[in-house]
Amino acid sequence: MDESLHTQARLKAALEEGGEVRSLGTVLGGYEILCAVRGGDRQPSIVVTAGAHADELGGVYAALRMAECLDTPHQTFIIPVRDPFGFHGFRRAVQFCVGRPVRIEGPDDVVRVLKSEGELLHEDGSFLLVKTGPFAIAFDVGTDFPTSSVGRNIEPLLKSRPELVPILAGCQRVISPYNLPMPRYGDVYDQACRSMKVTPDGFVGNMNRFFGEKEQPEEVAILQKFTETVRPALVLDLHEGYGRGFYIYVSEDRTPFMDQIADSMVAAVKAHGGATATVEELTPYWGPIAEGRTMVSDGLLYSGPTTASSFGTFWEKKGVASFTQETGGLNPLSWRADLQEWSARAAIETFTESYR
Ligand SMILES: [Zn+2]
Repeated sequence: MDESLHTQARLKAALEEGGEVRSLGTVLGGYEILCAVRGGDRQPSIVVTAGAHADELGGVYAALRMAECLDTPHQTFIIPVRDPFGFHGFRRAVQFCVGRPVRIEGPDDVVRVLKSEGELLHEDGSFLLVKTGPFAIAFDVGTDFPTSSVGRNIEPLLKSRPELVPILAGCQRVISPYNLPMPRYGDVYDQACRSMKVTPDGFVGNMNRFFGEKEQPEEVAILQKFTETVRPALVLDLHEGYGRGFYIYVSEDRTPFMDQIADSMVAAVKAHGGATATVEELTPYWGPIAEGRTMVSDGLLYSGPTTASSFGTFWEKKGVASFTQETGGLNPLSWRADLQEWSARAAIETFTESYR
């Protein structure tokens, strides 16, 4: 059996232990976007998603735990892995891109494989950008901030070398191993990677962009279409952020009900000893996207226009209680998963008690 299918089968089997599982559609690499159906029959429904940035494993694990056991009368759809291609790891993604097995055990192997298999588009210090077939792969040997924000390095590069824009826009995906500075365990090349799509005007979008837009990667189109069908009244999208503190992206036009839910999420994190993030802590990481970002209250961040086409914002604009949760990525993985789980469960509990 193909190893990647085997992994997908294991993910599916794990979700099936807790109840009904649906496939929402098939994406790059032949992977399915899986959705666990939980809770009762009460409407409106709840949607919990994670793994848009597949390397942000804390959210994925929290969603998997919630798929094991969730107590709410509202019908709940849990989509733990929004980018299954990325989730199945950098090594598999590279193998898929070059069309055959390659040995990757460390950064030197990645450099060797990319240079021998691909067409070198750009090299700057330890940063490499290579095209292989209909894919581009970006890599940086550096594993610590700021070099690990590989994806974010591509956009400025395209401004200085605009001739690369049509080449990358013609690629199905741009792949990079991981994005955030966070503790990595074991074989990092087997772990989830980041996939991006570049537009003809040079925008580098990850799988949490393009919502509500005309041209969408299929991962985005499938999730948007599905959620438009089930019309949730609570949306939780689980991510991992910079630094150590926990925070939630909230809308500028929040209702008291939304505030009540968001406050309960932050309170749950704090009740378990978790810390909230501050703007001072996060600004050095944000760099050029810091402008317009403000903490509206403890742990609640208004992000300005930089996340305008995210999944959370897509539903927020429709007046839905929609929250993008971020753990502090520098915390150990199990703690990040705990923070996500506690805050998501608190949101669902508050929503269940107070929805009218
Ligand atoms: Zn994320």
